[in-house]
Amino acid sequence: MDEEQTCLSNISQKLFDIEPFQIMFAFLVGVANRAYMARGEFMQLHLADSELNNAITTLRHDTRFIRDTLVSSDYHRALLEKLETFPVLKMKRGAEGCQVCLTDWEPASAVQLSGEPYKAEEGFKLAEDDERGKKRRSFSTSCRSASTKWAKFTICASCEDRVVSFHAFSHWKYNLFCAIVDRIHWLETTFGDDSVDRSTLPTSTDDDEEIIEWLCSEGEGTFDEQWRVFTDMLRSAKDLADYRSFGNDAVRDSED
Ligand SMILES: [Zn+2]
Repeated sequence: MDEEQTCLSNISQKLFDIEPFQIMFAFLVGVANRAYMARGEFMQLHLADSELNNAITTLRHDTRFIRDTLVSSDYHRALLEKLETFPVLKMKRGAEGCQVCLTDWEPASAVQLSGEPYKAEEGFKLAEDDERGKKRRSFSTSCRSASTKWAKFTICASCEDRVVSFHAFSHWKYNLFCAIVDRIHWLETTFGDDSVDRSTLPTSTDDDEEIIEWLCSEGEGTFDEQWRVFTDMLRSAKDLADYRSFGNDAVRDSED
């Protein structure tokens, strides 16, 4: 069994360990609960924490490894870079020709990549913002700004699942971060609103721990939902791996 198969077959045992994800979730709540320009500094400060560092290393190693095994060396580097850069992927059926495997006889889809490129290691700051942060942004801007940059290509049905999965793995942390930003932003809108039942809500956004507790509570469900999104992503990668090994066996059988 080669290294790729070993890794993929261990997905269910190894990566479904919830602890590294819990640590990452709590960390991202802390990042999201800072002013836009303070997020990068907060991130750098906390990366010295060894428990956090171990969780990040585990998640990064395994998700990157799985992601990169989804695509072969035949894929154009430029295309992979676009998939890694733009966080939003939309697909429309009815195109012709595949720019990934170059077949022109399978049904194909037109893919549009959009969303603002961002710097994950700088608190998900938008890449276009200059380093001194002249463009100061509001709390939730980084997850809401309208896209002005995009890329387009066509893709056949056979390449589609792998490319979509590669894209999901490339941006899972950003999407998790945006989901948390959305909830904190919503919480802020409830302050001073008497029509909202505040019995289960934090009274302010001052305390990260209080926000984490709220997002992890059963009634709120944000943590559970995001954990499901994450494990669904891993499962779909495993299905693709199983499909590929089945396909390879079929080819070998027919050659015997
Ligand atoms: Zn193709």
